[in-house]
Amino acid sequence: MILPIIAYGDPVLRKVADDIDAEYPNLKELISNMWDTMYNASGVGLAAPQIGLPIRLFLVDTTPFADDEDLTETEQKQLQGFKQVFINAHIEEETGTEWPFNEGCLSIPDVREDVTRKDTIKITYLDEHFKEHSKTFDGLLARVIQHEYDHIEGVLFTDKLSPLKRRMLKGRLTNSSKRKINVDYRMKFPASKIAR
Ligand SMILES: [Zn+2]
Repeated sequence: MILPIIAYGDPVLRKVADDIDAEYPNLKELISNMWDTMYNASGVGLAAPQIGLPIRLFLVDTTPFADDEDLTETEQKQLQGFKQVFINAHIEEETGTEWPFNEGCLSIPDVREDVTRKDTIKITYLDEHFKEHSKTFDGLLARVIQHEYDHIEGVLFTDKLSPLKRRMLKGRLTNSSKRKINVDYRMKFPASKIAR
């Protein structure tokens, strides 16, 4: 089932999300709905706060990025078919060189900006079977995880821009929260609280 995506301006996007346990109600169905919602919006990641739940759960499928001809064959292989559920994730370490990448967000559909982040992360998380993992990711894969991880920390990519850039974007961000944007997926706007 496709769920409406919460638009910029809703306080749920600003909460530090809570850990969950295996007893979390209808978790399997929730994850399945989140995949449907993410693919329907052509996203490569979706975090639970974006569908209104302040819990530490996000999904990533970087397959669409694998077609990028600017990437090396190794990078393409790494991105192809990387599909993962992250529960109770915690980034232990961010290292390496900072590099810019043009990011977008399903909750802020009409804004895309270069964001600078470190190249490599070490992250611990549970998969959908509550099996624990501790892994290191780098490059574009780390980038997508960092963006989604920020969502469960109440952080949006626009927070990482310079104060000048943020001032310039203010009007567009306000529009993002007031349904003055054209998107081809369902969204829920804080100004109206009505899904469309
Ligand atoms: Zn996002």
